[in-house]
Amino acid sequence: MIRDHFRVLKVDLSTGRGQIEEVEGRDACAGGSGLAALLFGRMGFPDRTWEDPEQPLIFAIGPLTGYFPLMSKTVCAFKSPYHDQFAESHGGGRSALSLRFADYDALVITGKARRPSCLMVGSRKLEVKDVHYLWGRSVQRTGQMLRRLAGGSGHRSILRIGPAGENRSAMACINADTYRHFGRLGGGAVMGAKNLKAIVIVGDGSFDLPPGKEYTPLFQKVYADLTETSMMDKYHNLGTPVNVAVLNKIQAMTIRNLQRTSDESISGITGETFAERTLLRNTACSGCPVGCIHLGFVREKFQEPNQYLYRQVTYDHEPIALMGAMLSVMDAFQVLALLEIAEKAGLDVMSTGAALAWATEASEKGLISEKETLVPLKFGDAEAYAQAVKHLGLGANDFYRVLAQGTLKAAEQYGGADFACVLGQEMAGYATGEVFFVSQALGFRHSHLDAGGYSYDQKQKGKDAAHAVDFLVQDEKARVFLTSMVSCLFAREVYKESVLADCLNAVGYKTLAENVDSVAQRVQNMRWQLRMKTGFDPASVKIPERFKQVVTWKGPIDTSYLESLQKTYAKKIREMAESEESSPARMG
Ligand code: SF4
Repeated sequence: MIRDHFRVLKVDLSTGRGQIEEVEGRDACAGGSGLAALLFGRMGFPDRTWEDPEQPLIFAIGPLTGYFPLMSKTVCAFKSPYHDQFAESHGGGRSALSLRFADYDALVITGKARRPSCLMVGSRKLEVKDVHYLWGRSVQRTGQMLRRLAGGSGHRSILRIGPAGENRSAMACINADTYRHFGRLGGGAVMGAKNLKAIVIVGDGSFDLPPGKEYTPLFQKVYADLTETSMMDKYHNLGTPVNVAVLNKIQAMTIRNLQRTSDESISGITGETFAERTLLRNTACSGCPVGCIHLGFVREKFQEPNQYLYRQVTYDHEPIALMGAMLSVMDAFQVLALLEIAEKAGLDVMSTGAALAWATEASEKGLISEKETLVPLKFGDAEAYAQAVKHLGLGANDFYRVLAQGTLKAAEQYGGADFACVLGQEMAGYATGEVFFVSQALGFRHSHLDAGGYSYDQKQKGKDAAHAVDFLVQDEKARVFLTSMVSCLFAREVYKESVLADCLNAVGYKTLAENVDSVAQRVQNMRWQLRMKTGFDPASVKIPERFKQVVTWKGPIDTSYLESLQKTYAKKIREMAESEESSPARMG
């Protein structure tokens, strides 16, 4: 398991065959984000579209997966249907540990299956199974049927898509083991384009723990830091939804298509309310003792007079922010009901919320009508949104099909780009100010977790663009190393650089341990290089007017600071992409 190369399973869906390849580059690229970039650099086609069957769909894990807690994410890399550029999306569940126990550092899928298929892999197994009868089924139903079919319970991970992925929506996610997702930038559509309904990874092998004396005490120390200190309390207790009330209080919440940044009726959807009224239990990704996944419930009457069933639905800050506050749906149960519908369709709930918020304002302004939306959309009307989410997932008419390709694509056709809440992709659940807006708009994954811009806005005084951009670049570098380890980014306070070096040392990756900074720099550069080669131009990114009209606790947005940040960050991204340090990523 500890090896100086990567062990990669490559599967061609067109032939149904696979091969295991030993790929050099462990000490240069580490794993996770670095490995995904290395593989895409070798196997991706920058000049072909994302739908080209030969484009690879990559799942990569890190050198510490299986050895230390919270090394539980998988990096999924692909050419994105959202912008046709190189992209990453991260997911957890059992995916990472299943790959580790199947003894692969990465799974790379190319080609297109002749019939709707499920790829089943294990350490001694590879099968491309015809599952045409699952095409059109919801994410949940697909999961239920595959659990019966696949075997390997407790050791397997089931990744699957819903109708949105089959319809090649740029908002389609890949569901991982029901409660986690490769949520953003359209990985679900990449599977749909490959006729790949699901992937089952069976972790059917085993491996020895590292022999050295350092490993056990270090594991115990890391475990204690994660479970016995206050560092991870927030995530286990109320979970990320604790942010809802906090951001609302400081006028940094996403309300009503970002027309406002706080709302008096927020109490209906705070983390506290979700916990008191809806919380059933916590659960966790495999290999995580924290358990930040909060499961609420939706109840359905299936027979008179009083026969009910309930289903469990996961909630987090950003799904609540985008599917609740953004739509002015301020009731926790109504938000859960909307989340469940989007989950069934296999839609990314964040993009869905922001897209429907735009559609609601476009309706109010008369740019579109019920002819397009099929149901009258009104802020706060959860029943109408329930119908609209279904229409979006199914691509019910021309309007929903174009909206499913991204809010700005719809705005190109119908108008309303000024109030489209898009920062690279539909916005994340933070409206903290200039640094965050630029960080998300230009950031590699267009995610709030690319770098801590939201926290910089809240802590730093003054408007020094060079200082802020330097923070974003350095913070991104640290996070790129974490995602190359495939650490959950919630553990970043525990896994500081020196701790990661100790962990790498303890399992036997001594060269990596000695070169954390230079490897992080290289991977950061490689990712930007691939992004630019596939068409990204940071200087041409437009931040819609709505973000310039936002008022936070600091007052109105300073547009000249925003512009200066954008220019400085764009220049820095170009420099990273052009750096010679990015050499391991060779493309095309
Ligand atoms: S903290 Fe949450 S997201 Fe992170 S690994 Fe644990 S359960 Fe998964």
